[in-house]
Amino acid sequence: MIPREKILETLNRYSESDIKLATICSHSALQIFHGAKLEGFGTIGITLPRSKPYYESFPKAGPDEVLEVDNYREILGEDFQRRLVEENALIIPHGSFVEYVGAENLKEKFYVPMFGNRLTLDWEGDRKKQEIWLREAGVKTPRKFKSPEEIDRRVIVKLHGAKGGRGYFTASSPEEFYSKIDDLKKRNLIEEGAETVIEEFIAGVRYYPHFFLSLLEDANVPELDYGRLELLGIDRRLEVVDELYRGFPDAFEDYLDYTVTGNTPAIVREKFIVDLLEDAAKVVKASRKLFAPGLIGPFCLETVYHPSRGFTVFEVSARIVAGTNLYTQGSPYTPYYFDEPMSMGRRIAREIRNALKQGKLDQLIY
Ligand code: AMP
Repeated sequence: MIPREKILETLNRYSESDIKLATICSHSALQIFHGAKLEGFGTIGITLPRSKPYYESFPKAGPDEVLEVDNYREILGEDFQRRLVEENALIIPHGSFVEYVGAENLKEKFYVPMFGNRLTLDWEGDRKKQEIWLREAGVKTPRKFKSPEEIDRRVIVKLHGAKGGRGYFTASSPEEFYSKIDDLKKRNLIEEGAETVIEEFIAGVRYYPHFFLSLLEDANVPELDYGRLELLGIDRRLEVVDELYRGFPDAFEDYLDYTVTGNTPAIVREKFIVDLLEDAAKVVKASRKLFAPGLIGPFCLETVYHPSRGFTVFEVSARIVAGTNLYTQGSPYTPYYFDEPMSMGRRIAREIRNALKQGKLDQLIY
């Protein structure tokens, strides 16, 4: 991994009055640029030629400057990185940024200062590490099954490394597991020897709360002795499987797809906010223990609520999630923290702005 000192050396050479927030034009980039502009930052969009004019078509959210690439891997090239550094670019990573450039590449080859803790890339991207993290946190998680033979209830099967729900399926017995795996292989949807993660299918209502952890503000919840934990919104993901109730028996297979296609806003019954904040604080606390300084900035818990089991957390996203795109003008929760409309994109920019004012920008970059 590129030593933090090297990244901070680069950051030290930046002209603080001219820092620009940069990201790939995808995922939540419009929100990030929009928020950055509101907080007085210049913005840089990294884009493929096709997307360029469309991203530029938004007067209030399009990037001020565009750097074109034919392939996102070009971002790792020496010339490209040097260009970003010359521009005083501070990268705001989002889900697609990590996916397109590659977590390993970001750690080993990318020295441009990036908001947040790069160590989370390891802990977020590896399902086994996530399991250790959530167990350390002490939040309720789905039971994991080591082998298909152990399946004794409804399980959801995730392909190792697969993101966003593609190729997931459910099974209730070892026989059903093997028959579905065979079927997926026949249809070339998985490769021979592909690794799977088998976990208990949790029935209930899914909620995806978005949090921001500020290291610059005072502690505000009992589990944390420093840093302010903010609940900035909640979404629900729209997955093809959600449409099943419409019942097309002959289209059943196609409807068993957990790929996220969009998001819809949600709130929880007010008393559940306590459960969500408590779980989030525990996840932060565990992150500090496992990979100090732990979570910094935006993150999201993927949860399922069932009246008799409470909230089960099945995944953590350790960066801005696309569900925050719902709340460009703030969410039902943001007025409890801020007087002005506060999106997650703007919240990130605000944190950077505050850090600059306090001479603490290095505390946000690891
Ligand atoms: P993930 O890739 O873990 O974000 O999961 C994608 C989708 O699969 C989620 O948004 C849920 O709809 C579903 N899912 C994942 N894990 C579980 C689980 N343990 N129980 C029920 N549904 C799940």
